[in-house]
Amino acid sequence: MTYLAKIGELTLKGSNIQEFENLLKHNAAKYLEGTGAKIALRAGRLYIDCEEAAAEKVEFTLNHLIGITGWAKAEVCEKTIEDISRAVFEIAKKEAERGCKTFKIDARRADKSFPMNSYEICCEAAGDVEAIMKVDVHHPDTIIYVEVRERCFVYTDSNTGCRGLPVGCSGKGLLLLSGGLDSPVAGYRMLRRGMKIECCYFHSYPYTSEEAKQKVVTLAQKLAYYGITTYLNVIPFTDVQMKIKEKAPEAWSTLMLRVCMMKLANRLAHRCNAKCIITGESVGQVASQTIENMTVTEHFAELPLLRPLCGMDKEEIIKDSYFIDTYETSILPYEDCCVLFSPRHPVLRGTAEQAEEIYNSLEVDELIEKSYKEREIIKLTVNGEPVKKTD
Ligand code: ATP
Ligand code: MG
Repeated sequence: MTYLAKIGELTLKGSNIQEFENLLKHNAAKYLEGTGAKIALRAGRLYIDCEEAAAEKVEFTLNHLIGITGWAKAEVCEKTIEDISRAVFEIAKKEAERGCKTFKIDARRADKSFPMNSYEICCEAAGDVEAIMKVDVHHPDTIIYVEVRERCFVYTDSNTGCRGLPVGCSGKGLLLLSGGLDSPVAGYRMLRRGMKIECCYFHSYPYTSEEAKQKVVTLAQKLAYYGITTYLNVIPFTDVQMKIKEKAPEAWSTLMLRVCMMKLANRLAHRCNAKCIITGESVGQVASQTIENMTVTEHFAELPLLRPLCGMDKEEIIKDSYFIDTYETSILPYEDCCVLFSPRHPVLRGTAEQAEEIYNSLEVDELIEKSYKEREIIKLTVNGEPVKKTD
């Protein structure tokens, strides 16, 4: 069987297009390793040929592969109008069976040696179908596509793809991944800009439980379905957090937590060659996310701090989390390290100078280094189980 995917934004990329296309093909091949599926890329389309047994895997791939705008299973037939009409009719019957009352044919003739133009193909192929459905060119219940290329492809029901740029074309970002709703969506957003993602989770055992950590492993796994491979660094954070509680003014504790997270993120980002740090912050969502407090956090970041959700509201974020299937996991009720020690009256408009001074008074540099060294690394891939790694 043959599947066809439309390539999106890539077509805008001018002279780099070859590089982007090769990457997209390479990424598709990673998903389909061991399935025997054949992948080809021609004229802005990805073609996947596979055996029936691999169909489910191919469909999973097309639902997760970043860089395509839509996909469909195609009927492949000979380049004669009789065969084309027959294939169109077969598909139309199925569409009528599932309740479609109106249709339209969208024909493209890439092979100009074919004796009929696209309008003529449409008229001829529509003939038989009109016995079972009505033509409606404006709002059809279904569109049947015909493409005359080196072979002829007939398909319908374009499924939407993830769009975006192929993962790997924009370098790597370090995602601060908590168990909440926002950060997985932030990671997905940057994956869609072509970034590879490495994840980092601050774990305050026993204040945050083993279940809370497991939840983050699950979220990282879901991101690996889009990113193909990712690493999750679990950083023991209890000692740092206790030190903050002991030494920082209570109103500053959340902000100091953020600062220490940034310090560790810097360290890790340099180690894993990330070019930026990504968080799930959104302006005004909570006290630590006022623009002033976000500026304080940013002051401590040694790399660009990307916040892809900064202008999104919760509804939009939740919609994305359903789409990437992280919603159910994110809402599991396990405690979050930030909530544990949250002050009753947090500072709303901190300044970098104050933050520097308080941070220095904590004397946590050594603890931070220790946390970094004791981190646990888990590798997650699209096709395998999580695996523990050493640095
Ligand atoms: P989320 O839904 O992603 O948990 P949130 O709305 O709960 O975000 P905060 O708890 O203020 O917001 O966290 C802001 C951002 O800081 C998170 O999106 C995440 O990127 C990062 N972050 C917070 N806690 C952790 C943690 N324990 N480990 C890693 N990153 C974290
Ligand atoms: Mg959170």
